[in-house]
Amino acid sequence: MNKFLLFCKKVGNKFLDIVFPTNTKCIFCEDEIVDFEKKPYCERCEKTAFNTGTKCVKCDTQIKSGNIICDHCKSHKRFFEKCYCPLNYEDSVRQSILRFKDSNARYLAKSYAKLICDYIKNENLKFDLITFVPSHKKTVRRRGYNPSELIAEEISQLLNLPCVETLIKIKQTPEQKSLSYQERAKNLQESFLATNTKLIKNKTLLLVDDVVTTCATVDQCSKILKSYAANIYVAAAARNHLKKQIK
Ligand SMILES: [Zn+2]
Ligand SMILES: [Zn+2]
Repeated sequence: MNKFLLFCKKVGNKFLDIVFPTNTKCIFCEDEIVDFEKKPYCERCEKTAFNTGTKCVKCDTQIKSGNIICDHCKSHKRFFEKCYCPLNYEDSVRQSILRFKDSNARYLAKSYAKLICDYIKNENLKFDLITFVPSHKKTVRRRGYNPSELIAEEISQLLNLPCVETLIKIKQTPEQKSLSYQERAKNLQESFLATNTKLIKNKTLLLVDDVVTTCATVDQCSKILKSYAANIYVAAAARNHLKKQIK
């Protein structure tokens, strides 16, 4: 095929993808699936992807059956009302989130938003607006987008509520993974600044993140927003569970 025909084919396929999207792959493991519209994940992933069982009433991490609250929430004051995470940050979900965050798989925001909305729909929650955990502008420039903001925008469309920027990240925080909760919290202090504060006065917000681990980030964000807003609920696509508490 000559170069011009190849170009026409590429443009044509792109056009067809936009008009008739033909996404037929599992959003987690990328295996081919039968009915993407009905269920965008395969049966194998369905068995392990979802955050089920006994969970902490505050932060949604899995805990031993018979317990109500995790050790962490018992010993730390939380500034948010409750955190909701439909997926386990493990295996193919983890791979999916990494594609979303680091490999430009922005289309996944729509599926994550739908899973979050399905997960909270029976909770009878009423939000005034949707907001998101900010990224530092240097990180946004490098990545091209803020993953949490993409999910928040999709949720705002699904729930027909405004999506508002309420926080700005003014300090880049170093790698958090190897730090204790106290060290993470200390790192995060003075990292965020509230914006659009008049808009959030006495409002109930849904604060969106991509993955939640210790809750240090969402808690610090909630602490700042709580100076203005009435209530903060948190939603993230996936929960990185605090393993010690399950075993
Ligand atoms: Zn799968
Ligand atoms: Zn907890």
